[in-house]
Amino acid sequence: MNILIIDDDAIDRMSAIRTLGESELTLDQVDQAPTAEEGIRLATQRKYNVILLDYQIPPYNGIEVLREIRGSNDYATSIVMLSHSNDEQLALDCIEAGAQDFVMKSEVTATRLKRAILLSAERHHLELQVRDSHDMLRRLAEQDSLTGLSNRYFFDEALKDAIPKAERNGKQLAVVLLDLDKFKNINDTLGHQAGDIFLQEVAQRMEVPIREGDKLCRLGGDEFAILVHDLVHPTQVRLLVNRVFDALAGPVEIDGHSLEITASVGIATYPDCATDAVGLMKCADVAMYRSKSLGRNQVQYYSRTFHQAVESRVRIENDLGKALAANQLLLHYQPQVDAKDSSLVGIEALIRWEHPELGLVPPDEFIPIAEESNLIIEIGRWVIDTACRQFSEWLKAGASTNMKYSIAANLSARQLKDGGLVSFLTSCLEKYQIPPASLELELTESSLEQSLSALDMLNSLTDMGIQLALDDFGTGYSSLSHLKQYPLNILKIDKSFVQNIDDKKQANLLKAICSFAHSLEYETVAEGVETKEQVKICRELGVKRLQGYFFSRPLPAHQLKSRWLS
Ligand code: C2E
Ligand code: CA
Ligand code: CA
Repeated sequence: MNILIIDDDAIDRMSAIRTLGESELTLDQVDQAPTAEEGIRLATQRKYNVILLDYQIPPYNGIEVLREIRGSNDYATSIVMLSHSNDEQLALDCIEAGAQDFVMKSEVTATRLKRAILLSAERHHLELQVRDSHDMLRRLAEQDSLTGLSNRYFFDEALKDAIPKAERNGKQLAVVLLDLDKFKNINDTLGHQAGDIFLQEVAQRMEVPIREGDKLCRLGGDEFAILVHDLVHPTQVRLLVNRVFDALAGPVEIDGHSLEITASVGIATYPDCATDAVGLMKCADVAMYRSKSLGRNQVQYYSRTFHQAVESRVRIENDLGKALAANQLLLHYQPQVDAKDSSLVGIEALIRWEHPELGLVPPDEFIPIAEESNLIIEIGRWVIDTACRQFSEWLKAGASTNMKYSIAANLSARQLKDGGLVSFLTSCLEKYQIPPASLELELTESSLEQSLSALDMLNSLTDMGIQLALDDFGTGYSSLSHLKQYPLNILKIDKSFVQNIDDKKQANLLKAICSFAHSLEYETVAEGVETKEQVKICRELGVKRLQGYFFSRPLPAHQLKSRWLS
């Protein structure tokens, strides 16, 4: 056992050495230091099992020396304080500062000292174990076990620390959020194990271009974040992101599959975007969201304008679920007229959302959101039911006039996969006593392509006698012969062809579309007819029905009735 005695009193040192000799401890080496400086020097240079430290060692007090030794010595040395005083508070202060025991000089006997030394060594050993496991817990708490990167907890803490520091030093910070594109597909199609390997590879590649002082973390799932310190100019972050993209380029090979890594990135800076951690994260998130909506491998800086756009989208997402129950959805109706005599031949139901605060929200802003969830099924059924009920009321009211027209509703791709659609439609037509041939369902080309079972569904609908219209015709990419396999009755020519009729090329295109449609015996509807000129050309081209602002905008039910049905 190696022991160091630090005491300015030569007699006390001698007596300690004598007592040690009587203690039956195995002593390999016993050193003495008469000053604090000498003691600290020895304690840092040599490896002692125990240091006996005098509390009074002018000009210092023992606690100062104790702290110095604890700060510079990382060998497992236990420290026993020796003092003439028996002040309990003093003893506690010493223990708190890192001593393992406190013994009064007047009470030192061989047995007492031996016990103090042995117990101190044991106590210190336990303390170190506790410290190690504490460190390990901390690492676990701050580390992402899958990738070995720091985790969200660490990131949040680091960001909270970094902001006041940046403020003091007048520096800028950046938060870079990176979300992998289409990661869910990998998990879904290749399994979670492949997903894990993919994430590990991403983490490894991303670490390469990160500067020493910056922090890369995995926030969870497929979301990563980089905290950039000491930002001088925003271009610096852009360069960093370029380096990250470079590092991520090149496929990852998993189970014989070659997978590309692409990611959407959002950047927010302190203090420009926000001055607190929560605000900064939110801004980076908004920017990332914006990148996502632009496609793959996009980078966006936070800006206030798209903050508002995202905010209203989030708002719509949150509120849409309640819209139906709260009676906020309604239908407007737009007439379609016979091109020959402008008489009413059809009515298209178009959905609207009367949001209590946002006002009338157009369908382009909420139908795509409803389509991302199953909400579209419920909303779609509501549309069909409401349109049919309204239509049957009009029919009854006008039974004497003998006017013939149909009702049309738009159908989303997702509704074609709804196994219950056919029976729902059957009972709806029955309930409202509507001849199936008076109902038209409008579909888009993309919805036909999204599902293999779409064809079966369309066949069942035509078997029922319902009319099927292809909406926005001409904007899709499917070949014309491909279309022929679907049992469609009506082509609704997209408004872009009708509206750009002044352009010679577009006019020729419209002509070609019409002759194609007529040669295959489709009924044609021209959408978006706004001017007299457009009416004239559509008539000349033999289009059967016209729909557009020239005749009427979509109207609330009562207005449609008073203007068109009486
Ligand atoms: P769409 O089916 O192509 O509907 C025609 C859109 O063109 C309507 O917009 C209509 O207001 C507008 N429009 C009509 N005439 C003119 C015109 O002369 N000029 C111009 N510039 N526009 C005209 P709206 O009502 O905003 O609907 C937009 C889209 O939302 C619809 O396009 C349809 O795809 C979708 N949608 C509307 N209602 C429903 C619904 O109940 N279910 C589903 N799944 N989608 C719906
Ligand atoms: Ca339509
Ligand atoms: Ca359309």
